[in-house]
Amino acid sequence: MTSDPIWQPLVEELARRQRAGRKAEFWLRDDDAVDPTLALDRLLDLTGDFAVSVTLAVIPALTNEKLVVRLDQAPHATVAVHGWAHRNHAPEGEKKQELGAHRPREVVLDDLGRGLSRVTSLHAARAVPMLVPPWNRIDAGVVSDLGSTGFTALSVFGPPKPAALAVINSNVDIMDWHGTRCCRDHGLLVQAIVAQLQRAFDGGEPVGLLTHHLVHDESAWLFLERLFEITTRTEACAWLPIKTLIGRGAAKAVPGKG
Ligand SMILES: [Zn+2]
Repeated sequence: MTSDPIWQPLVEELARRQRAGRKAEFWLRDDDAVDPTLALDRLLDLTGDFAVSVTLAVIPALTNEKLVVRLDQAPHATVAVHGWAHRNHAPEGEKKQELGAHRPREVVLDDLGRGLSRVTSLHAARAVPMLVPPWNRIDAGVVSDLGSTGFTALSVFGPPKPAALAVINSNVDIMDWHGTRCCRDHGLLVQAIVAQLQRAFDGGEPVGLLTHHLVHDESAWLFLERLFEITTRTEACAWLPIKTLIGRGAAKAVPGKG
C-alpha cells in the first residue's frame, strides 16, 4: 500500500481503468545482460516476487552458458537479441550505433543473423526472434531487410514507425542518461507512465518500461519495487509477456514497409 503523493496520479489512473473495465498494460525490457551478476539476481528476484515477465536484451557475442544456467531458474525471463557485440561503428562525435549505415548492409545483417542464431541455440524456447538495437538505433535500410535474417520483431524506444515486422517499443526509460546517470525523479517517471497509459487508452502502445540492471542505483530499485507493488495488486493492470505483444504486433505489421 502507498499513500505517497508521488504515486497518487498512477493510483488514480488505475482506479479509472478499473471503473472503465479496461486493463492498463505494461511490459518490461531490461538491456545489456551478458553474465549472471548480483544485479541480475536482484532483477530476477524482484520481478519473480511480483510475477512480472521480463525480457532481457542479451548481447550475443559476449554471453555464454553461464547465463543459460542462471535463467533456467527464472521461468519469467525471456531473452531477446541485443545487436551482436554492442560495439560502436559511428565516427567520433556522432551518436553511437552498431547497426547504422557505417558498414555495408550485408555485414550488419550478417552480424544480426549470427546474433539470433547464437541466442536461439543457447536459450532455445526462452529466446524470442526480437532485435533490440544497441543504443536503440538502427538504419532504416537494415530494418527493411530484417525479415530475411529470421527476426519477426524489433524493439527500440519511442513511438513505433510502421515496419514489415512487429514493432514493440519501450517508451519509459527509468535512467537519466544525460544528467545524473542515476534513476530519474520518481514523480516525473510516474507522470510519464500515466501519460503513456492515457495514450494507450486512446489506442496507443502499452507502457514499455526500459531498465538497465547493471547500472541501477538504489533509487532505481526502489522505483521498480513501488511500481510493482502498485501495479500487481490490482485487477486493472497486466504485465504482459513479450510473446503476447509480438503476436499482436505481427497483426499490425505492414508488408513491404522498411
Ligand atoms: Zn545496450
